[in-house]
Amino acid sequence: MKKYKITADMEKCMAPKKCDLKCIKTCPLKVLAYYPIETLREDSPVVIMATFPFSCNGCMLCVEVCEPKAISVQAPK
Ligand code: SF4
Ligand code: SF4
Repeated sequence: MKKYKITADMEKCMAPKKCDLKCIKTCPLKVLAYYPIETLREDSPVVIMATFPFSCNGCMLCVEVCEPKAISVQAPK
């Protein structure tokens, strides 16, 4: 089975201070998840990951809502 390649550039990502995880909240198929880097800090930087890449349908909603253009979704080859 082919799957979309989803990557998040954490150098560009503004979560959690300036973005309330819009990509994760927007994804209709719950493909994305986040992990705090410093688990004990409430305002810890996060890592955005595609936990269920096989579920992605390429709708690009996550790309559209991400203001700093940190998310990239590439179609299967
Ligand atoms: S929408 Fe963009 S800035 Fe916001 S959490 Fe997702 S990757 Fe980060
Ligand atoms: S392209 Fe659509 S289905 Fe795939 S991760 Fe982004 S919002 Fe979810």
